[in-house]
Amino acid sequence: MNTLKTEPKKGDILVVDDRIENVNLLADMLTENGYEVRQVLSGKQALQVVEYDPPELILLDIMMPKMDGYEVCEQIKKNPDLINIPIIFLSAKNNIFDKVKAFQVGGIDYITKPFFLPEVLCRVETHLTIYRHKNILAKEITEKIKVQKQLETANQQLQKLANLDGLTNIANRRYFDEYLSKEWNRLKREKLPLSLIMIDVDYFKLYNDTYGHLAGDDCLKKIAQTMDCVVKRPADLTARYGGEEFVIVLPNTTEEGAQQIAQQIAQQLSELAIPHQNSLIAKEITLSLGIASLIPDHNLSPFDLIHLADQALFQAKKQGRNRIIVNS
Ligand code: GH3
Ligand code: MG
Ligand code: MG
Repeated sequence: MNTLKTEPKKGDILVVDDRIENVNLLADMLTENGYEVRQVLSGKQALQVVEYDPPELILLDIMMPKMDGYEVCEQIKKNPDLINIPIIFLSAKNNIFDKVKAFQVGGIDYITKPFFLPEVLCRVETHLTIYRHKNILAKEITEKIKVQKQLETANQQLQKLANLDGLTNIANRRYFDEYLSKEWNRLKREKLPLSLIMIDVDYFKLYNDTYGHLAGDDCLKKIAQTMDCVVKRPADLTARYGGEEFVIVLPNTTEEGAQQIAQQIAQQLSELAIPHQNSLIAKEITLSLGIASLIPDHNLSPFDLIHLADQALFQAKKQGRNRIIVNS
């Protein structure tokens, strides 16, 4: 079978000159050398053609009636989609033209008439090559930036996942430790109070024994959601401390403020009324909460705050559960 193969065109060039003989001369030479050439006779037509279907390179006469080459060039360079198209100015050798202006308006080169065709060809080829390399580079950079952004997003998501507790979707112990220490240092500098609430579900082992481990998981999720709804300030943090224990960091919050939060949590949970028929103190799920509050200073550490809140929680358990105890 005979297949007719046409050589791919070497480049798409627009020739702009008000003199038809100049346009024809350049167009013929470029076509013979394998380029695809479009030709127009005025600045206005040039702008229309370029905007409709941008060429890869423009040969642009300077001296033209109505709209000269400088103005055409300026108009094209104003358009961000067209700004990189190389423009080579054409000017008669005996015409005094402003070479500096030719570059200032965005031209990349100039050729003087009468044309020495091999020179025209060399300049066209050189600028086309540079233009194409620039385009490839720009594409590569855009692609790299895109990949970089995707990586950053993926990293942020990973980071978020690493800080979350898989079951309850609130912060995990690792993030709690990190956050408490950060807030500790901040409030130490600002000499402001930091409060901590430690929370433990009452008779939760019995809950699992009664309703099964999956129901237990579900219950923990509900408790986490309830706490998260009550705790509203952006700097506050609700975290799963481990098992059926939770913790709430309340920066710049006094003991009284923390007490209010604890009461609201207990209240909201009692409104949820999650049945716990085998609990030894109620027919629903209840919590024991321990609160500690202090202004961080260099004699103390975050561990002291945790220890104080834990002591309060221990007291809450000891005194019968389903209550809030403040360690003051
Ligand atoms: P207390 O009132 O003294 O706190 O009694 P308790 O039964 O709540 O405390 P204990 O420490 O004896 O038992 C805690 C229970 O919490 C036992 C454990 O199986 C359960 N638990 C811990 N983590 C999970 C979990 O992720 N899912 C479920 N379903 N249960 C859990
Ligand atoms: Mg416990
Ligand atoms: Mg418990």
